[in-house]
Amino acid sequence: MSPAKPIDVVLIGGGIMSVTLGSILKQVEPGWTIHLYEALPELALESSNPWNNAGTGHSALCELNYTKDLPDGTVDISSAVKINEQFQISRQFWSYLVKKDLLPDPENFINTVPHMSFVWGEDNVSFLRRRFDALKDHPLFLGMEYSEDPAVIHSWAPTIMSGRPKAQKFAATRMIAGTDVDFGALTRGLASYLTDNGAIISTDEKVTGLSRGKDGVWTVKLRRTIGKYTSRARARFVFVGAGGGALSLLQKSGIPEARGYGGFPVSGQFLRTDNEKLVAKHHAKVYGKASVGAPPMSVPHLDTRIVDGHSSLMFGPYAGFTPKFLKTGSWLDLPLSIRLGNIIPLLAVFKDNLDLSWYLVTQLLASRRAKFAALREFMPDARPADWRLITAGQRVQVIKKDAKKGGILQFGTEVVTGADGTIAGLLGASPGASTAVPIMLELIDRCFPDRSEEWAPQIRAMVPSYGKALSSTPALAGKTLASTAKQLELSNPS
Ligand SMILES: Cc1cc2nc3c(=O)[nH]c(=O)nc-3n(C[C@H](O)[C@H](O)[C@H](O)COP(=O)(O)OP(=O)(O)OC[C@H]3O[C@@H](n4cnc5c(N)ncnc54)[C@H](O)[C@@H]3O)c2cc1C
Repeated sequence: MSPAKPIDVVLIGGGIMSVTLGSILKQVEPGWTIHLYEALPELALESSNPWNNAGTGHSALCELNYTKDLPDGTVDISSAVKINEQFQISRQFWSYLVKKDLLPDPENFINTVPHMSFVWGEDNVSFLRRRFDALKDHPLFLGMEYSEDPAVIHSWAPTIMSGRPKAQKFAATRMIAGTDVDFGALTRGLASYLTDNGAIISTDEKVTGLSRGKDGVWTVKLRRTIGKYTSRARARFVFVGAGGGALSLLQKSGIPEARGYGGFPVSGQFLRTDNEKLVAKHHAKVYGKASVGAPPMSVPHLDTRIVDGHSSLMFGPYAGFTPKFLKTGSWLDLPLSIRLGNIIPLLAVFKDNLDLSWYLVTQLLASRRAKFAALREFMPDARPADWRLITAGQRVQVIKKDAKKGGILQFGTEVVTGADGTIAGLLGASPGASTAVPIMLELIDRCFPDRSEEWAPQIRAMVPSYGKALSSTPALAGKTLASTAKQLELSNPS
């Protein structure tokens, strides 16, 4: 019997990354066969679930960790500009799909929620003022407002000001045009587009191994999580979009490019309230400054969340530690990820990041009362009875080889591709789902270089600014921001 014809694209994992890649490929190669395998009973139950992440459309409008205070008193905005550029690429792709009726009404997955930064203390106020000065005339940040006036800040976000000591010095910036994104709804929307156009999605189907045959075709080993029976699929191209499960699958694939990578899991919790009166009083995502030693993703923030048409408030994240790489993962995930090839980077990172380990230990041991005190720094009148703790998704930060230090801990994402472009995987968490589209376009560039010329017109139809820097073409930036805001029914930034 001749073996079954290989599937063109196998996507492992049913989160935002796999469905984004699948949707782009469906657009450029409508005839390709696509099969997505998800281990859990539904899609978007891990990091892409709206209650497992903060839903911030990351564009550095309010996240202070993307702007660096330099010793000469200036503020480096290059990372902020980069992250904003990336988010504009995602917005363009989503706008295109909405316009073509391939995604549901945008309010199902993206809504305008102003983004604010809020700080107190002389030094922090000085930093925020200089940050504002550095950003306010940039084409991607037009419309940013700054105030040190308590009455103005109160009018922007009353709950963060009521009950605050009068003597305190504080400052805030506001961008009306910030967004809250329900990445779970977006994942499901993109998945429907895929299945409506011939792709197959199998849930409760876990990928347990990957091996490449002499003919260059991948064999994907599968195990039904119900019934436990096993099967195999053959694929010409495999994307390992398994979130925290990606490292182990890339290691199993045997590709040399995955050697030396390790993972450092950081768990998290949020406080959440659905108290309608309280929720009605606050409509913003308010980001503060991270405490000393805290990793960048632990910046405290008080967020309006809009999920399934309902608004809630969320505060956090509180970091913690478990050795699991997925929320539904195993306590053995971390120990089983250790290989000869990554033990030196892992040890080097542990030695060089004792402040991070200490920070995680203190967060882990923090009592509910201490957690609540952190919320009260943002919302002085908060009452414990209104809030409950929820467990967020797992982040697996990338550990990789470094010639000087032996190993480094990286807070961004890392696309790992096999040399022949038949397999790719995504490691890391931040800035995450907001940048899914540019990350997947980069992956396509790396894995399908021989198709780039042929696919470029369709990619430009979906993402008109593709290949251009919006920051150096202000007219294009203004046009892009305005047209995506209109299509996605969002506030126009400038
Ligand atoms: C606390 C927290 C806050 C965050 N806040 C934000 C934010 O505000 N804005 C933002 O843009 N991003 C944020 N992120 C990041 C964002 O959530 C992630 O980058 C994004 O959801 C990752 O998507 P993914 O598809 O790679 O992974 P996931 O959504 O985790 O999907 C991976 C899927 O693969 C499945 N899987 C795993 N192993 C296997 C296997 N062997 N076989 C089959 N299936 C498998 C899993 O079950 C899962 O469904 C946050 C993340 C966390 C944890």
